[in-house]
Amino acid sequence: MPKNLDLLKELSEVNGIAAHEKYVKNIMEREFLTVVPKERIMYDGLGSIAAEKIGKKNGPKILIVGHMDEIGMIVTKITDEGFIKFQTIGGWWSQVMLAQQMNITTSSGKTYLGVVGSKPPHILSPEELKNPANIDDMYIDLGVENKEEVEKLGIKIGDMITPAISFRKLANENYLLGKAWDDRIGCAIAIDVLKSLKDIEHPNIVYAAGSTQEEVGLRGAKTLAGLIKPDLAIALDTSIARDLPGTDNSIKLGKGPGIMLYDSSAVGHVALREKVLEVADELNIPYQFDYLKRGGTDSGAIHTANSGCPCLSICVETRYLHSHTSIIHVDDYLNAVKLIVEVIKRLDEEVVNKIIYE
Ligand SMILES: [Zn+2]
Repeated sequence: MPKNLDLLKELSEVNGIAAHEKYVKNIMEREFLTVVPKERIMYDGLGSIAAEKIGKKNGPKILIVGHMDEIGMIVTKITDEGFIKFQTIGGWWSQVMLAQQMNITTSSGKTYLGVVGSKPPHILSPEELKNPANIDDMYIDLGVENKEEVEKLGIKIGDMITPAISFRKLANENYLLGKAWDDRIGCAIAIDVLKSLKDIEHPNIVYAAGSTQEEVGLRGAKTLAGLIKPDLAIALDTSIARDLPGTDNSIKLGKGPGIMLYDSSAVGHVALREKVLEVADELNIPYQFDYLKRGGTDSGAIHTANSGCPCLSICVETRYLHSHTSIIHVDDYLNAVKLIVEVIKRLDEEVVNKIIYE
């Protein structure tokens, strides 16, 4: 079982918002190449990447995919005074943005640190004190004198902005702090499933993949599904831990990957879910049932792509999703890898046909 925290650190810290996934894709490509030859790596027209691992020619096509993009912003304006105005890309809540550190990545790949400016309480009006800040009023302060200085750095309209925070193990070292667990932990699972299958015989064709543009509407998953035409798919993502003060304590960090019953983009495929749970029960791999009233995963695009595909989302439960300071538990990641590898080992044409047609 791989416990490659260096890879988790690298995937968490690399910057890549929707349509800017190049640096994440490079990491996935490098890792895929340790398992499959170059000619078994494929790309779709929107930047998604997949590694093809053939267990049996003409076997059922199993797609496992995490999305490479994280939430962030793009530069929309540089003011004369050198402040950066931005457009959010993906779902942000204004209250987690103020006074946070951000990186701006230039087209040549250089990054510059800035902070989201915030007024101190002394000068906030009674009205401002009552209401959450408005994202449209926010800006990033790079610590420069004027617009010319910003332009000299190579920062341009359209450049990507991402949260700036380093990966850390917390007091209990199983708890991992970082940005972009949504969905770099899914990318890590896809990579590790492929690596775990390296010397294992199975009668399927497995595609480990990274999709693009999930956070803006599951767009890369749609084009990836068009490229692969999977018979069965598992979307790897994060979901929301409910083990905090003020929650119902129903979904906890470290108690197993979440099996998504329902989210606003898809209802988990019932027969595929039954198969996954059968394997988890057989091997005593912990899991938790999950559902999301708002928000979707790549399953939403994949299950209706082509002529339809049984699809299930398996999620790593996360605290403080869509903020700089997300926390996951390493066991949930390791158990997700183990569960998916064991499911794939038990799939073949007959089992897959049963899942699809019975
Ligand atoms: Zn996600």
